[in-house]
Amino acid sequence: MENLIKGQTGLWEVVIGLEVHAQVSSKAKLFSGASAVFGAEPNTQVTYLDAGMPGMLPVLNKFCVDQAIKTGFGINATVNRVSIFDRKNYFYADLPLGYQISQLYYPIVTGGYVDIDLENGKSKRVNITRLHLEQDAGKSTHDLHPSLSYIDFNRAGVALMEIVSEPEINSSQEAMSYVKKLRSILRYLGTCDGNMEQGSLRVDANISLHKPGTPFGTRAEIKNVNSVRFLGQAIEYEIARQLEILENGGVIVQETRLFDPSRCETRSLRSKEDAMDYRYFHDPDLRPVVLDEARIETIRANMPELPDAKRERFIKEFALSEYDANVLVAEKEVADFYEQIVSSVKGQGAAKLIANWLIVEVFAAMNRDHKTIDNLPFAPNHLAELVDLIIDDTISGKIAKDVFAKMWESGKAPAQLVEELGLKQVSDTSVIEKAVDEVIAANAAQVEQYRAGKQQIFGFLVGQVMKVLQGKANPGVANQILKDKLG
Ligand code: ADP
Ligand code: MG
Repeated sequence: MENLIKGQTGLWEVVIGLEVHAQVSSKAKLFSGASAVFGAEPNTQVTYLDAGMPGMLPVLNKFCVDQAIKTGFGINATVNRVSIFDRKNYFYADLPLGYQISQLYYPIVTGGYVDIDLENGKSKRVNITRLHLEQDAGKSTHDLHPSLSYIDFNRAGVALMEIVSEPEINSSQEAMSYVKKLRSILRYLGTCDGNMEQGSLRVDANISLHKPGTPFGTRAEIKNVNSVRFLGQAIEYEIARQLEILENGGVIVQETRLFDPSRCETRSLRSKEDAMDYRYFHDPDLRPVVLDEARIETIRANMPELPDAKRERFIKEFALSEYDANVLVAEKEVADFYEQIVSSVKGQGAAKLIANWLIVEVFAAMNRDHKTIDNLPFAPNHLAELVDLIIDDTISGKIAKDVFAKMWESGKAPAQLVEELGLKQVSDTSVIEKAVDEVIAANAAQVEQYRAGKQQIFGFLVGQVMKVLQGKANPGVANQILKDKLG
């Protein structure tokens, strides 16, 4: 119960349930052949059906159904042999049909769970209620003209998977972690690109507070949050808002709210009293979706390795720590990049060393220069080469960092850089001995102190030897020679 919040009147528990809308990766829309690809000129990807012309009939896109089945297996859920499309009726300018085709009573997927990773290194299982298929609406833009709104129907009819969690998430951290993990799974599966900036993944957060041991409180729903960071901020704001009301004896009204990132606050959009009656009914234009075993089995047999399984394999196969493995598997592209390098470097401890280099040096440079793993300024075999140079003692780990920086700037191969810049490690004992003698002669006072028992001085003297050799001395050899000469 480490998540409880201390108020003036006692302890409160935060309860959160998330509804994630994930756009299905598919060339065509859910019920029409129009392109579902993002970024086209407005209203260029719209069929008569998408525009709500009378008499048009929907034709179910089988690929989108397969994507939902695949996702169902990816979240450890039950894929239902029969599911049914319903009409959810409401009026809005960006909904030309006058209804959204969705699945209310018989969704294609039920149950399932996602194991999320918490900051304390533990994991937590969040159960999933359901996943259903539905159409997206068009996109309205209200800020391009002083008195007119514009509507782009390219998105109208694009397939969405709505994934609904149980109210089992208990903090903003857990909520963010849930979305990250779900997004990672979807991207591994190839069923949603997870691009939150383009709106391919949007989150509705239901939040309430209650005192442990009492029934759940009334929830507010924050609609359409489109970044993980905003989700965290919106939840934090909402918790504080509700806590303030409840502690002062007020009641929470069930309502829909919007998060305003520029002010970092949520605002009421509509209360539940204004909620519409959607008059759901089975869509008479569409037959029930009946799945045969062979189709389901084919999909099950072709499931890719998912992040949790990959993490376990990385820990076993490459002796990585849980933390390192977690970081590397979060994005499939990073995991693939890592494995590609590991497969080409031989030597003791190579896998661990490569993991360190990726997680520390490469990620830092990526963040600094806003790069992703597939547009790095160097080729994967260059990082392999750099690690090879460290393992075979051509350069020290310290020099390797300089080489890496140069490699990042120039795109040149590390071996070539080491050659050009004369950075080869000095392991020649006679050269190092000469440097050690110099240092001992020049630092008589410190040598005296060391011999009198002041152990810390040793580090200083090693540093001096390194300085003489411009950081290129083999540290192991330099240590040994210095120790011998002093002792
Ligand atoms: P609706 O369709 O009206 O939004 P649902 O019953 O489908 O309602 O619930 C939507 C989401 O709200 C689910 O993720 C569920 O876990 C969550 N939820 C339900 N009750 C609460 C509550 N009291 N506090 C927080 N979340 C809740
Ligand atoms: Mg809802």
